[in-house]
Amino acid sequence: MTHRRHLLTLLLAALALHGPAAGAQPPAAQVRAVATFSILGDFVRQVGGDRVDVTVLAGPGEDAHVFSPSPSHARTVAGAAVMFSNGLGFEGWMPRLMKSSGFRGQHVVVSKGVQALKAEHRHDHGHAHHHHGHHDPHAWQDVRNAIVYVGNIADGLCQADAQGCDIYRDNARRYTARLQELDGQIREAWSAIGTDRRKVITSHDAFAYYGQAYGVRFLAPQGVSTEAEASARGVARLIRQIKSENIRALFVENISDARLIGQIGQETGIRPAGVLYSDSLTAVGGPAASYVDMMRHNTATLTGAIAGP
Ligand code: ZN
Repeated sequence: MTHRRHLLTLLLAALALHGPAAGAQPPAAQVRAVATFSILGDFVRQVGGDRVDVTVLAGPGEDAHVFSPSPSHARTVAGAAVMFSNGLGFEGWMPRLMKSSGFRGQHVVVSKGVQALKAEHRHDHGHAHHHHGHHDPHAWQDVRNAIVYVGNIADGLCQADAQGCDIYRDNARRYTARLQELDGQIREAWSAIGTDRRKVITSHDAFAYYGQAYGVRFLAPQGVSTEAEASARGVARLIRQIKSENIRALFVENISDARLIGQIGQETGIRPAGVLYSDSLTAVGGPAASYVDMMRHNTATLTGAIAGP
């Protein structure tokens, strides 16, 4: 440890003496951007490349539904030229943050133009208020919608920094090609599984877009926002449904309370088949450090659990 630190000190000293060679330094970022959550931050970095300095508000593993911005977040927002948000009621805390920070830059809602799904109405929620509005915000779970996001991000960056526009369009084109390939790979993975077997239990209702795009039925005890609590009646009904329809794929999500899924697992005798990533990436080195990795991980985990050993 000490030895390594010593080496680092030497290295830093050497750098200080000589300085980095001219031209070897990465170009300084031209645009300061903020993205509201980690998945969106990945998209903005893909399109912005070296030219854009991206700060993410709800970081890896954090739940953007119930995020609570700090004064330092407000300062970051105030200093940004562009602010990217998902929209569709995902970031209920945004209007207040925009106001309190005095943000004067450009606000880009990246879901503009996607075919939004209606949030499923759950009458058994009783008193629970749905702050997320009338739409299901998790549109990025359909890769074709992610492609729409990328186009909107390129438009937004071009408006904020016209000089870099060719670069943004180029990056967007390259990344879109990767996303199209990913979309094909997900379809391919599901094609081997009969449509009647494609039923999955997750903790909160984050996969309706994925389900619609790739032909999978998702059932969840919690609504589209993690703000609302699952009702005892809803959970009991779900347990009956799992038993009667012989559903075997039960999953925990990284941002949700695992206890509920644990309880359902105990009462149905099904062991949770792994972790799905819906609203947040993992830190670097985790199984979902990028959007592409997240979608691959979820698809492999889901199809693996349903297909069985
Ligand atoms: Zn969610």
